Amino acid sequence: VIKFLMTDLGVMATMTQSLDPATCVAVVEGFGKIVDGNDEYDDDDDEISEESALEVGFVTQEDDLSTLKPRPPVVTIMGHVDHGKTSLLDAIRNTDVTAGEAGGITQHIASYQVEHNGQKITFIDTPGHAAFTDMRERGANITDIVILVVAADDGVKQQTADSIVCARQAGVPMVVAINKCDLETADPTKVMTELTSYDILTEEFGGEVLVSKISAKQGTNLGDLLDKIMLQAEIEDLKANPDRSAEAIVIEAYVEKGLGTVATSLVKKGTLKVGDIFVAGETYGKVRALISTNDGKTRLDEAGPSVPVRIVGFEGIPSAGDPLVVMDDEQTARTLAESRQRISRERSSASYQNNLMDSIALSFGANKERREMCVLVKADVQGTAEALTRALRELKLENDEAIVSVKVLVSEAGEVSKTDVAIASVTPGTTIIAFNVAASMAAMEDARVQNIPIEYYSIVYDAIESVESRMQEILSPTP
Ligand code: GDP
Repeated sequence: VIKFLMTDLGVMATMTQSLDPATCVAVVEGFGKIVDGNDEYDDDDDEISEESALEVGFVTQEDDLSTLKPRPPVVTIMGHVDHGKTSLLDAIRNTDVTAGEAGGITQHIASYQVEHNGQKITFIDTPGHAAFTDMRERGANITDIVILVVAADDGVKQQTADSIVCARQAGVPMVVAINKCDLETADPTKVMTELTSYDILTEEFGGEVLVSKISAKQGTNLGDLLDKIMLQAEIEDLKANPDRSAEAIVIEAYVEKGLGTVATSLVKKGTLKVGDIFVAGETYGKVRALISTNDGKTRLDEAGPSVPVRIVGFEGIPSAGDPLVVMDDEQTARTLAESRQRISRERSSASYQNNLMDSIALSFGANKERREMCVLVKADVQGTAEALTRALRELKLENDEAIVSVKVLVSEAGEVSKTDVAIASVTPGTTIIAFNVAASMAAMEDARVQNIPIEYYSIVYDAIESVESRMQEILSPTP
């Protein structure tokens, strides 16, 4: 431990020295272990310790029950494509003028807060289910309630079922919003009947799941939906201690001209203030500004539990799902971030070796050639880039002779740049995927000269489909 402290963390420790908590965590993480609120040490089953440690991945002082105060529910909208998720997000936003106007804002809105009957509700728009599940895999459960949107004229579809599974696995309660009730072909009863085969029993069917019949397009019955959300929130008894140093979760991060890295984050507990020093995953920083996600411009002095906020002041770019924890001093924050970087570098080189061994074994064992389709992924926000990358990495095609997989060379937020084209030019056949982003003029020109395809998408399935068909060609080239 002393050797590690000295050589890896630069702490000149002695046998009898006391260490601050951050250094302790850095040591534990340095030895490849994870610090959590292990049940072994937690014999009275106490929700709070699980929350503080597991979700944030960091040991913090547990909050005394008496310090907990009610906090707004954090809501995510899920459902099948075209059933009205975006329309609903926009419509709810419009019910509350304080939430700002939906129009005129070009920046992707990841989250906002509305006030309903004097009570606040936080809405988070996670880019696709993948991001929702990714975050959960990392222990960052940010959602308290899922609104399951089902179109009354279309009923339960594949992604409706996926959403149900997703919410169930996360242990998050659902409120059903039967949308498009303005249509003549609307049949809410049929929707509720279909839902029973997924064990979702609404009140009319003798169950307890709350339902609202709405029209996002016409703004009908949205107040009822918000009432049901508050009712569900009351059942969940959501609480946090606002009077302590803050812990938040990064939802997405991007670079904005003039501001540097900006991360939309959700405060889980405590109150985040301008000037706070923090560590967030493998990076750290000092809060230079807090910007309201509602309008993207109002500066806030502080943000309490369940408040979504844009944080300015990062040294590097954090990843979606990274826990952000306020620290006492900058040195400790940096030490922790740097030691995490080192550890993840070591791990990825170890997993690279393993992959190499796997692929050698596979190609010898099965006598199959391994081929790769190389892509660069650029997207409007980091979370989307990550979600798309994850989906692409899962693709695999094979026949008797060969196996084709996808190699993602770059996955990040931002427009397609000259550098991206340069990276793509190194490996012939590389495709640049631009998701909801453009390419700079210079990049387009370079790509044209070097004959490197830049493909533009705004729908994940389209991007995946196109990559799959290219993989098929690599697998069995048409003569
Ligand atoms: P998403 O893919 O789930 O985000 O769905 P969108 O919000 O993009 O909506 C898909 C389509 O359904 C759009 O053409 C909307 O105008 C339409 N739509 C959404 N809500 C309603 C509604 O309440 N009534 C009707 N008639 N159409 C709606």
